Amino acid sequence: MSVRDLIILGCSSQQPTRLRNHGAYLLRWNKQGFLFDPGEGTQRQFIFADIPPTKVHRIFISHFHGDHCLGLSSMLMRFNLDKITHPIHCYYPASGRVYFNRLRHGTIYHDRLHLIEHPIEKGGVVHKDEQFTVEAAFLDHVVDNVGYRIQEADRVRFEKKKLIDAKITGSLVRELEAKKEVIVEGKKVRLEEVSWIQKGAVFAIVIDTRPCQSAIDLARGAKLLLCESTYLEEHRELAFEYRHMTAKQAAEIAKKAGAEQLVLTHFSARYKDLSPFVRQAKEVFSGSVDTADDFKRFPFPR
Ligand SMILES: [Zn+2]
Ligand SMILES: [Zn+2]
Repeated sequence: MSVRDLIILGCSSQQPTRLRNHGAYLLRWNKQGFLFDPGEGTQRQFIFADIPPTKVHRIFISHFHGDHCLGLSSMLMRFNLDKITHPIHCYYPASGRVYFNRLRHGTIYHDRLHLIEHPIEKGGVVHKDEQFTVEAAFLDHVVDNVGYRIQEADRVRFEKKKLIDAKITGSLVRELEAKKEVIVEGKKVRLEEVSWIQKGAVFAIVIDTRPCQSAIDLARGAKLLLCESTYLEEHRELAFEYRHMTAKQAAEIAKKAGAEQLVLTHFSARYKDLSPFVRQAKEVFSGSVDTADDFKRFPFPR
């Protein structure tokens, strides 16, 4: 089975600390690599995480504050250096195109990358294939800022005993899946009689925003919600002023959205000990709560 996990490559906010790099998050899912918000130093964080940058297929930029995109230039340069052959898709808020272009062409290198840009003008589905649907929604920050929701396609799962009883084997199974019904020994068997639907899992990322309805909508039913919590409750007024969230507010979003697991990130450099973040979030949200930490991995099982 292919790897499915979320790897934290950095979890600081504006200022990195000795222990926390600028944010960057890699989701490995069904042979796809989704890289979110490559902050400064992301290229080197890949080395420490022992993951080749070539594992990235899609890059999602939430907004163009430096802590969310300064590593884009060096990652694109690195993809060239590694001579990757697959295309790299980049998603970002359309109003930040000028910043994207600067990061894209900020230095001299032999640019042979097949880069496909997806500037986002409005919320909605920004990508869909047989495996995934990716949705974007604008959040509530000081500049245009986008959160993302990745939903795996639903899968048909067969009930082995029912297949055997109906005498459906080998190529007939594939025919049944394609045509939704087959005739066996003169008897019609419909797909739903011998199978069930496994709902696709959801991953959501909500970073740099005040609490808002879009954040809840993105996180609806998520198996894992990666959410900013720049501040603790005692600095709630700062969170409001700078359009960020506290751990408790992140937990309220997870609760309202019915998420399963909440991973908190984007911590202000003023905090050394992150345990109060978990404590404060758990006062509100009864699901699993963790804090991100550089190189921590969160498995994302079926
Ligand atoms: Zn930020
Ligand atoms: Zn920001």
